[in-house]
Amino acid sequence: MRRDPVTAFIALGANLGDARQSVEDALQALARLPDTRVSARSRLYRTAPHEATGPDFINAVARIETGLNAPALLDALQAIEHAAGRERPYVNAPRTLDLDILLYGDARIDSPRLTVPHPRMQGRAFVLHPLADVAPERVSAAELQAVQGQPIKPIEGQRP
Ligand code: ADP
Ligand code: MG
Repeated sequence: MRRDPVTAFIALGANLGDARQSVEDALQALARLPDTRVSARSRLYRTAPHEATGPDFINAVARIETGLNAPALLDALQAIEHAAGRERPYVNAPRTLDLDILLYGDARIDSPRLTVPHPRMQGRAFVLHPLADVAPERVSAAELQAVQGQPIKPIEGQRP
């Protein structure tokens, strides 16, 4: 039986090579996933590395409607990361592309390879600001207040 699509939010981040292009390519790749469409995308943001090293990150959040279940979605995101040439030499190493599931409907998942809502989305300006672009009702003023010390700005010259 085919189930109704679920609304999920995907965080995109890149900080190696042409990071902006990597994020744009990843948005295109999300749109090509089976049984999935991208229903909204945030602005692109530039952020200094947070608990990580290397050049600035480009970050964004996509809202998708997907018929994939959460583990299948994670598999698909990892395949996109892999195709973008991601290597994981050490924890929090600079990366060509990082795709995380922030929210998957109202699901709460705590399995060895998947925790949803994403456990580190709170306290991260580079997640909360783009998430607020596409799902303002999912981000409180207090949460934004808590990250106001973290430098982040939308990239200039984007269409609204
Ligand atoms: P991080 O995103 O934490 O910087 P990785 O992208 O290398 O690091 O992810 C490490 C592992 O986190 C993945 O192999 C995946 O199994 C696991 N993981 C747990 N929860 C999630 C989630 N919500 N979204 C993406 N990956 C997750
Ligand atoms: Mg990740």
